Amino acid sequence: MAPARDRAGSAPAAVELDTELGRVPGIRPAEARLLGRLGVITVRDLLHFLPYAVESYGAPVPIAGLREGEQATVVARVMRIVARRTSRKGMNLTEAVLADGSGRELKVVWFNQPYIARQVRPGEQVAVAGLVRRPQRSFHPELHNPHLQKVTAGEPIKIGGLMPKYHLTQGLTSRRVAEVVTKVLDHRLRLPEPLPPEVLARHRLISLPDAVLLGHRPERLEDWNLARQRLAFSELFELQLAFAMLKQSQAAEPATPVPFRLDVIEALKLDLGFQLTRDQRRSAWEIFRDMERPVAMNRLLDGDVGSGKTAVAAAAVAMAHAAGLQSVVMAPTEVLARQHLDRFRAYLEGPALARVAPGIRVELLVSGMTAPERRRVREEAATHMCTLVVGTHALIEEEVAFANLGLAIVDEQHRFGTGQRERLRRKGRGRPHFLAMTATPIPRTLALAGCGEMDLSVIEELPPGRTPVTTRALRPSERDQAYQLIRAEVAAGRQAFVICPLIEDSEALEVRSATAEFERLKREVFPDLRLDLVHGRRRDKDQVMRGFASGQLDVLVATAVVEVGVDIANASVILIEGANRFGLAQLHQFRGRVGRGLHPGYCLLIADDEEEARFGRLRLMEQIADGFQLAERDLELRGAGELVGVRQHGVSDLAMRALLQPDLLNEIREEAAALVAADPRLDRHPLLREAVARRYAGTSLS
Ligand code: ADP
Ligand code: MG
Repeated sequence: MAPARDRAGSAPAAVELDTELGRVPGIRPAEARLLGRLGVITVRDLLHFLPYAVESYGAPVPIAGLREGEQATVVARVMRIVARRTSRKGMNLTEAVLADGSGRELKVVWFNQPYIARQVRPGEQVAVAGLVRRPQRSFHPELHNPHLQKVTAGEPIKIGGLMPKYHLTQGLTSRRVAEVVTKVLDHRLRLPEPLPPEVLARHRLISLPDAVLLGHRPERLEDWNLARQRLAFSELFELQLAFAMLKQSQAAEPATPVPFRLDVIEALKLDLGFQLTRDQRRSAWEIFRDMERPVAMNRLLDGDVGSGKTAVAAAAVAMAHAAGLQSVVMAPTEVLARQHLDRFRAYLEGPALARVAPGIRVELLVSGMTAPERRRVREEAATHMCTLVVGTHALIEEEVAFANLGLAIVDEQHRFGTGQRERLRRKGRGRPHFLAMTATPIPRTLALAGCGEMDLSVIEELPPGRTPVTTRALRPSERDQAYQLIRAEVAAGRQAFVICPLIEDSEALEVRSATAEFERLKREVFPDLRLDLVHGRRRDKDQVMRGFASGQLDVLVATAVVEVGVDIANASVILIEGANRFGLAQLHQFRGRVGRGLHPGYCLLIADDEEEARFGRLRLMEQIADGFQLAERDLELRGAGELVGVRQHGVSDLAMRALLQPDLLNEIREEAAALVAADPRLDRHPLLREAVARRYAGTSLS
């Protein structure tokens, strides 16, 4: 007799929190794959994946009663429906006309959803919900890409009312995500509550299982808000716990202390030839205090372009040198490294410092040097012949080693990955003190949220005597004024940048459009001037930049990705095309490239359309010169996604928005610090420990 078939293997596995969505009955593999692209892989991920907005459409209204600008739900009959391809852009358009006997017709348009015309036939009853528009010269209202439900007799209308909107990827709609969520919620799995009850009570938070239900299926807008508050709190709390734990483990790593010496700083001040600003002095002081400890410093120095971070870094190098330690400075490009070389030499190789801390030598290491030169510098580093090596990625190559590395500095730190920074820190025998620098003004709350394993020093004031850059937002029709200004400045011996529009997600397109713009400018606008082009795909871009820096070019056309921080004193105008596509913080970075010399600078912003130029955010650029203030406004207006440096730990938009409440982060930090102080490895809070580990697996925080 044949043995009975073991049928357990083919039975569906029980659905649990860690079950992948593709294995949940009723969820199609394609849906699971699309959600996976959004980072939503397991049941647990989906439960946490709350809608980012909830739209309120209200009860169905007659077509004749629709008002432009309102969110509305309509139940009506399909009179006509056709799908077609537009001739110009090759887009799929599905157009339908609906009527409900109220005296007016409703036009509905779906973009790139051709299947709708196959699902819905003339004569059928549908419910649609969306934003009411009324195009010019049209009597009938329109809906674009509305939610859609076919209504068969007796079936309840599911759209309208409160509708969750989920982050999507191509091929998904919020409705489908909501259906998948329903499939999962049907299993009635409860997420365990990781937060200690006293924390919940102190911050008046709802429980995690409640937050999941109310967040996905709100009955009132308030429900959804409470759910989001709860999840934002969890996320920030877990992040701060991770930071607190990381700091604690770093504190266990010994470093060579660098004693503070007043004579060294006094000598450096004599050699610098200028007075340090108050913020520079405070930052330097914070750095000295860190370096005096037998634990490695881990500090971020944040100051606008031109705020004088290099002088502060030089002070730290001098102090380390006086203690018998070497330093290294890594910059993202060769041009920047060479600029640093000149500046560090000017700051550190002066006579006064030579008297109190003799023997300072600064060398360069970049891949553009000849092999024998590179070998010589490597030998000097390995034998402590030189004090400071300034360079690029070439520094983290295998063969480079230092005899006595005491201080590692990274400029434009967000341009390097965690791994690269880490390799630099392993170039000595022990753990060097670490200083990261960034020219992106980051609002303090964001810095604490996103880079919380670091201590923070901020330089807000610029050195005296700078004339602010004159900024003007221009309409496309005013472009000639911009060209006239460039002409006048070049005639006066100055130089100009032209930045081409940002094209997201496609470097190839960006390069192509920048090349076209360059050709046009050369042929039609400035045929008599010397122009060149830099973009990310051009191998010799360092050479072009050097040519510009040495005055061999009048106008440099560039894509949005060109390196920031390059100091070209003779450049006085920067023209930014498609300026409305950039964040304020980024525009401010561009602006920082002019007005660095003796000449007044001009920043001209051209928007893609007239409206943007006249009323948009660009007006703020005209009014606000301070980078930190602009960054805060940018945060309010666009969310944190645009701010470089804070995305490193994947802080979500949800959490970022919570950060706009100034006190919340402080409360969360205190709460996290207290918990870690009492329970350093979270042994008594295993669920919390798991949550932290899950969120930060594979990052510098794991
Ligand atoms: P950052 O690296 O922060 O963009 P830099 O260190 O390159 O800025 O400094 C910009 C310019 O300002 C340099 O020419 C530098 O010598 C000068 N500078 C720095 N600090 C001062 C100061 N306190 N007073 C006057 N000039 C300064
Ligand atoms: Mg700099």
